Amino acid sequence: MSKFDIIELSACVDCLLFFANGDIPEYRPELLKDIKNFLGDDLSHVAVNYSEETHIEFGSMPCQSCGSHLAGLRDELAILKPK
Ligand SMILES: [Zn+2]
Repeated sequence: MSKFDIIELSACVDCLLFFANGDIPEYRPELLKDIKNFLGDDLSHVAVNYSEETHIEFGSMPCQSCGSHLAGLRDELAILKPK
């Protein structure tokens, strides 16, 4: 049995870069606040889960990590929630 529940999110490129290397783009100064509004304060269990199957070159669904409605690239983030 797995010790984690895995929650998969479709996320925008801003969120992916933030979770990959902590970057906050200059044009999204509120990014961290937006992400915490959606995912809560504890972001330590979020990982980038890149794969060709879940990579979307141009998606119009809102980002499930920060709520951005800007259409564009989507990749998967995984939240590992300890059971
Ligand atoms: Zn996002």
